Amino acid sequence: MDEAIRSKYRVVIGLEVHIQLQTESKIFVGDSTTFGKSPNTNINVITLGHPGTMPKLNEKVVEYAVKLGIACNSHISRYQIFDRKNYFYPDLPKGYQITQDTSPVCVRGYVPIRLKDGTEKEIKLTKIHMEEDAGKSIHLEGETDTLVDYNRAGVALLEMVTDPVIGTAEEAYAFVSEVRKIVRYLGICDGNMEEGSMRCDANISIMLKDATEFGKKVEVKNMNSIRNVARAIEHEVERQIIETEKGNEVFSETRTFDADKGTTAGMRTKEELNDYRYFPEPDLSPLEVTDAYIDELKSQMPSLPHELYEKFMKEYKLPEYDSAFLTETKATADYFESLGSLTHNHKSASNWIMGPIKGFLNDKGISIEEFPVKPEGIAELIGLVDEGKVSHTIASQKLFPYLAEHSDMNALQVAEKLNVLQDSDSDSIQPIIDEVLAGLPEKVQEYKKGKKGLVGMFMGEVMKRSNGKVDPKVANKLIRESLEQ
Ligand code: ADP
Ligand code: MG
Repeated sequence: MDEAIRSKYRVVIGLEVHIQLQTESKIFVGDSTTFGKSPNTNINVITLGHPGTMPKLNEKVVEYAVKLGIACNSHISRYQIFDRKNYFYPDLPKGYQITQDTSPVCVRGYVPIRLKDGTEKEIKLTKIHMEEDAGKSIHLEGETDTLVDYNRAGVALLEMVTDPVIGTAEEAYAFVSEVRKIVRYLGICDGNMEEGSMRCDANISIMLKDATEFGKKVEVKNMNSIRNVARAIEHEVERQIIETEKGNEVFSETRTFDADKGTTAGMRTKEELNDYRYFPEPDLSPLEVTDAYIDELKSQMPSLPHELYEKFMKEYKLPEYDSAFLTETKATADYFESLGSLTHNHKSASNWIMGPIKGFLNDKGISIEEFPVKPEGIAELIGLVDEGKVSHTIASQKLFPYLAEHSDMNALQVAEKLNVLQDSDSDSIQPIIDEVLAGLPEKVQEYKKGKKGLVGMFMGEVMKRSNGKVDPKVANKLIRESLEQ
């Protein structure tokens, strides 16, 4: 799209993120939440809303909701009620969803994001509320009937709603990525968008830059990855600008994203939307949250990804790239923190994780939790390199793979076993150098006449004669000194 046209408009985006909680049972009933069970096996009479059955609140859900609220700097509501949201749809067995309408568990708050150019921004939240998930409608190819699986009905969700403060697809991408990191760090959701355990709807509108009122918003659904959230926004913004430029009105509607085509298509307009007739859920008593409870949960909070990012930059003096990489998952950050406490060479620790360890994990298709070498082992490798006992190349290409297969050994034992310990002791290196120089008198003369580049050749000879086992830094220095004599 022509930049001149695009730059006439301001883009306004608000996101709604559904976070499916990893609780063992559902939010209001003891049914299991295990994913992938045979359809309609994790359902009892309460899930199905049979007459006379009563819901009972799962405490774990409250704990997870409050933890997320603390992580997002939200106000935690001390007095909450649940509400019924009434609508008729095949995947909703009770005919209503229990949610929180007027008193959400978390109010306001923000999630910090960082853009590629280093800009930092706080994305303001409107609220986070607890609710139950619906079942799943399944449309099989070639079938006219719809099948419904109620296993998911009643599984706990948190819905996080942002203010309309997101201005670009990149900001939306950074926001959803950060939320996913936070829920994973907290261990409350697996953050898997492909499997639908985290879902994101994007509300998008455009307005002329000098306009004072927001444009009509379009809600886009069905993006199954963070990248697709960004793609959907890019496309929808362009579509709205093109329509507006043509003199057509953008109207409020719900659209669905088609990942293959990268486009959005209308699903329903706002006029067709239900009136949900919210009213307080009569079968659940109000929920009171005490300060003591909140304090208790605060004391259990892990470090959050952006806090560790700051710490790695400031305390360990790591570059932005390293800090971002190391805080991508909690397990990686934990590994780095253990390693960082065992060595002073934090940059080297970071390089080991981003290089050889990452390569090993990729090769084996395992995660860092399953990595066999303890931080102590890597710290020893770093020590051996820093003390000049092995070269970095030998450490990463020979010692590391061996250590990974023999994690019961320590790094020094492996170095001895592989016979790769190098000498950094000048007294033992000097005789080798003397021999090499004595064998190449013409070259020594040429060097003395000014062909300083020959030092590399002498190094090569010294390395050959020592089977690569002398510390190159020490050898280099000694060769130069010998030649200058
Ligand atoms: P609704 O009543 O349609 O549910 P809400 O006011 O509750 O709308 O907002 C739902 C989401 O839409 C929020 O994330 C909010 O920030 C966002 N939103 C509201 N107005 C706009 C707008 N004009 N453009 C983009 N997003 C908007
Ligand atoms: Mg709303």
